[in-house]
Amino acid sequence: MNRYSIWVMEFAHVPNYHLSGLIYGAHNQGYRRLPYCYIVIKGQGRVAMVDVGYNHKAYGEVLANTYGVRNWHPPREVLAEIGLAPEDITDAFITHAHFDHMGNIEDFPNATFYIQERELSKWVWTMSLERRFRWLMLGIDPGDILRTVDLARQGRLVCVNGDREDVLPGIDLHAAFDTHTWGSMWVTVRNSGDSENTWVFCGDLAYTVENLRGEDPEDPQYIPVGLATGSQFNLIMASEAMVKSTCGNVSRVIPPHEDRLKDMYLSRWTKADLRITELALADGQPSQVR
Ligand SMILES: [Zn+2]
Repeated sequence: MNRYSIWVMEFAHVPNYHLSGLIYGAHNQGYRRLPYCYIVIKGQGRVAMVDVGYNHKAYGEVLANTYGVRNWHPPREVLAEIGLAPEDITDAFITHAHFDHMGNIEDFPNATFYIQERELSKWVWTMSLERRFRWLMLGIDPGDILRTVDLARQGRLVCVNGDREDVLPGIDLHAAFDTHTWGSMWVTVRNSGDSENTWVFCGDLAYTVENLRGEDPEDPQYIPVGLATGSQFNLIMASEAMVKSTCGNVSRVIPPHEDRLKDMYLSRWTKADLRITELALADGQPSQVR
């Protein structure tokens, strides 16, 4: 008895990303394909997203080129693959402000956006610093921060302070302050009354499964991501909290940049060479990947 259908939608990728950026200390271990994805959660009369990707224009395009991003497609094309349009999106949970997660709020005119208040206010502060602090701004488009503030003016922004339960039925928001960013947030979907039927969408608190279980299946450990505005300690404690919320089932913690989701869950490739992974189907809903 699932409340929601859930898909991981790829909208672009980086062909060869340094593994050391993804897994702390993984120097000289080569490169990996890094998909850029957002999550779509449909059910209970709502269509929610976890993160909204970026828009391949202006400074978003500049940042994308810096990171070597390829094969970007707009949400209208990507969402059509599962029978949706950007106007259908009612709620967007922003895990953090990096451009590939928060860089396309303008394409979802009917959505209410949720972000940690600390994430927004601390990026405004960071923007005010002198030029020698610019490393902190890696992956941030100041235009995205301004557009998010403007959502508040339009009455479409919810600034969350810490955890919030049942923001939609069975969907909870969890703060992970001073980790990957100032106010990162992870999202749980309790998809039925069964406590083991919980999904975690972790934003960039984990890039890959190695961040959550290490490299030796016989002897698991947490290894933080390579990029943190906050601390590695806080990242490790956030990993523990995420894994615990799934009753220890690490494979239910979904890192949107993990290329091997396609091997773990039912997936298909679109004609545009984008991957769709289907994690769950609400009762009576047809599969979009078969
Ligand atoms: Zn990030």
